[in-house]
Amino acid sequence: MNAGCIEREALSAYADAESGPEERAGIESHLAACARCRARLEMITALKKAVAAAVVPAPAMPADLREKLLRMRMRSMGLWPRLLGFLREFSPRRRVMALSFSAAGLVLALWIFREDLPGIGSGEEELPVSVLLAAHGRYASTLPLSGAEGPASRVQDLLAEASDDL
Ligand SMILES: [Zn+2]
Repeated sequence: MNAGCIEREALSAYADAESGPEERAGIESHLAACARCRARLEMITALKKAVAAAVVPAPAMPADLREKLLRMRMRSMGLWPRLLGFLREFSPRRRVMALSFSAAGLVLALWIFREDLPGIGSGEEELPVSVLLAAHGRYASTLPLSGAEGPASRVQDLLAEASDDL
């Protein structure tokens, strides 16, 4: 390496377009005069491309596994039988309404069992629809079990299935 050649870290930052404007100008003028550093930069760039290509996204969770986990979670929380009990108290028309809320169904469940959740408190106040609607989008984006199908539709399916048993 010639004296005054560019450090590997600096070349790497340059390849990532992370150098400041002054540093960048210095590197470019050196590259114009130094074939060795041009070759090093080429190698660094190729290496970065290879690494990026090797990083494959994690495979999506199979739908049946997702369903199984969701069921397990509901059972372990004791939600499932209580959710069925809750739905029985709805008139058929309101039941359909409740089921059609998809992700909001999760919020419903949380509201119903809120006495069990520390810090949420209890009471018989009405469940505001605006809270349901606001939570709908939030849940869709933050639930850990996400996929093409989405946890919301999964919950809706489970709830629909449950209503058949009523
Ligand atoms: Zn050089």
